[in-house]
Amino acid sequence: MYYATNVAVWKAQQACQPLRTTIELTYRCNFTCPHCYCVVPETSSERARELTTEQWYDVLRQLADLGALTVTITGGEPLLRPDFFDIARRARALRFGVRIFSNASLITDRKIEQIAALRPMSVDVSIYGASRNRYRDFTGAASHYDQSMRAIDRLTAAGVTVIAKLNVVKGLLNDFDEMVAFLEERKIRWFHNLKIVPKHDCRPTPYEQAVDRRAAQRFVSEHHFSIDENKTEPDDHLCNAARATLAISPYGEILPCFRYRIAGGALDDATIREVWEKSALFNRVRQTTLKDLKGCGSCGIKSSCSPCMALNHMMTGDPHVPYHAVCDHAALWQPYVRRYVPDSGSTKEIATHSPKQQESVARTGNSSRHLRQISGCAG
Ligand code: SF4
Ligand code: SF4
Repeated sequence: MYYATNVAVWKAQQACQPLRTTIELTYRCNFTCPHCYCVVPETSSERARELTTEQWYDVLRQLADLGALTVTITGGEPLLRPDFFDIARRARALRFGVRIFSNASLITDRKIEQIAALRPMSVDVSIYGASRNRYRDFTGAASHYDQSMRAIDRLTAAGVTVIAKLNVVKGLLNDFDEMVAFLEERKIRWFHNLKIVPKHDCRPTPYEQAVDRRAAQRFVSEHHFSIDENKTEPDDHLCNAARATLAISPYGEILPCFRYRIAGGALDDATIREVWEKSALFNRVRQTTLKDLKGCGSCGIKSSCSPCMALNHMMTGDPHVPYHAVCDHAALWQPYVRRYVPDSGSTKEIATHSPKQQESVARTGNSSRHLRQISGCAG
């Protein structure tokens, strides 16, 4: 299944077909997590600028006409929109596979029934601590720990696939093992994320939550994490942005991916198809290859890197000039790269662990967490 999905994405990439799309219903959030890229408070007047329900219906219709297969509904916190279920139902009626990204704090018992009726591909829930106090201190939301944990249990009981996201940041590092125990007891699939990105307005404040280098190395080694080898040929395209994915912002901007802060056009003056097929930005992004990025073609650690034009553009002003945090992340993961080769229609690991990884596996006998890292991005 994993292999088949990758082949489908690869084919879409080659054909420049928008297979996986992201709709950001709102940038407002009821939490104020310090590591987050969103900048819009729950009660912000920005709400007035957001697309209406009818406009979101039109976005979905246009995406269906373009041949998109999946829609990820995200925010901010998308359930802050009172029309969340209307939009999600419309997406399902158009036969999209739907993923929902949420902090789960607003998922009441009634909403669990509604979510289950949608039969989503998954509900991806970020977890912010293993206790009420930690959760409150980190999210700034006083009373949502119980509601979020209960929602995870009730969603799972209702047959909904829950995928948990654990952010490895200073404020949550000490709770990591407890959060994993909570999830493994319930057989819930989880991923961890060590990558931090700046605020939408380019402020680097989320990096204040970054775990220091030595602690990050210890964390990766002790938990037996590894990363799949990344593309390394000079003519390799970098990612799915504008090739197999695109995103629509709450204000109708048509973006190459959810992280890109420049738009190829806006719904006010163009259709999504026009932007996908004719926008100079989209064409530039989709044609960019590894050799177009300064220093990346000859970089010695590119096999553990996911170069990101969006981050580069935000932080260096030039999508082709690597942002140092991207390189730091690649250096952290370099000893933990795994390589694959095709083997009779499936994939087979050929280079297992680095010396560090072998040492860690030998010490504990545990090698079960290789793939549990969010590499790259949702694009
Ligand atoms: S790597 Fe960066 S530019 Fe590419 S899809 Fe991911 S976030 Fe977007
Ligand atoms: S580590 Fe830096 S220079 Fe090397 S491939 Fe990644 S972004 Fe490019």
